[in-house]
Amino acid sequence: MKYSVRSCFREGGYIYAKKADELPGGQDTNRVARLASNENPFPPSQHVIEAGIEELALANRYPDERPYRLISALRERYGDYHIVTGAGMDGVIETIIRTIVEPGEVVAVSTPTFSFYRIAATAHGASVRTVPRRDDFSVDADRFIDACQGARLAFLASPNNPTGNGVPPEVVRAILEGIEKSGCVLFLDAAYVEFSDLDYLPLMDTCGNLVIGRTMSKAYSLAGLRVGYAFVPGWLEPCYFRAATPFAVNRVSAAAAAAALGDREHIAGTRRHVSRWLAEFAERVRCPTYPSDANFVLIDVAPRTGDEMADMLAERGVLVRSCRSFTGLADHYIRVCVGDDWENEQFIEAINSL
Ligand SMILES: *Cc1c(COP(=O)(O)O)cnc(C)c1O
Repeated sequence: MKYSVRSCFREGGYIYAKKADELPGGQDTNRVARLASNENPFPPSQHVIEAGIEELALANRYPDERPYRLISALRERYGDYHIVTGAGMDGVIETIIRTIVEPGEVVAVSTPTFSFYRIAATAHGASVRTVPRRDDFSVDADRFIDACQGARLAFLASPNNPTGNGVPPEVVRAILEGIEKSGCVLFLDAAYVEFSDLDYLPLMDTCGNLVIGRTMSKAYSLAGLRVGYAFVPGWLEPCYFRAATPFAVNRVSAAAAAAALGDREHIAGTRRHVSRWLAEFAERVRCPTYPSDANFVLIDVAPRTGDEMADMLAERGVLVRSCRSFTGLADHYIRVCVGDDWENEQFIEAINSL
């Protein structure tokens, strides 16, 4: 018997950050700087942990069919919007594609960017059309609108991963108006918006074709719990939950996420830490760094390649992301996120010694 898997899963797939125990031998894995995954280096607050523990005692029961408490905490925090949830924003992305796109239809993706849009769209049987940004990584609205002709769904990340820059809300509005007639929905991925001063929520009030994806994984320090959500137009909400995997957000994660939303000081402290260190990176790293609205920075390491630099830094106990795998980006970039003080110092010392 010859068994077979779908051609799209025979190779490729999501690229995961290296782990401390995969580093070249002889290193103290407790002193490895983990700057490759854009996580928040600060653990969640004690009351967030306690909210999760309390719910763990009820683990024999399924969660609510929709995480109502989390959704009402989100409404309380951000306003009275239609909100959907999933297992990380990755789960939300997958479900939105499943809800809107028929296999064979076109999904447009602004590049270079986060790889999961392509992976999820391809897995669904959609065809992906890439729309390159300008050389300075800004978005050309006219070009984007043209590329959305005939597409069902388009992905735009702001602040963008891995380039770090945000798209001004006026440009997003122009795109939304430009693609409206063709029936294309824009998925605006705002995974890093809490680090920036950008506010896209007012666009929800007037645009019926906007989905704003958000996550508890980055600024809110809950990457390990897998909670994502999105602001969606009213017409999409019931269809989303029909398409979703049942009980995608577990009770422990939902309770901890609801508690974390009230933790304003955690976000404010994280923002202060990140902006202080982004300024230090820009000033002290002896390679060109790009301006960032997120908690990471894109660094040009030419004439070395990103792969070479990431390997050399790994030998010095610093994990960063080589950007080679990002479609539409040259091979001489690395992406480095802001970690703990000692991690950032270890990184600056290591890169400047090369
Ligand atoms: C991290 C990230 C996400 C997904 O985060 P989840 O952990 O799945 O919530 C989505 N989009 C971008 C651009 C990201 O960098």
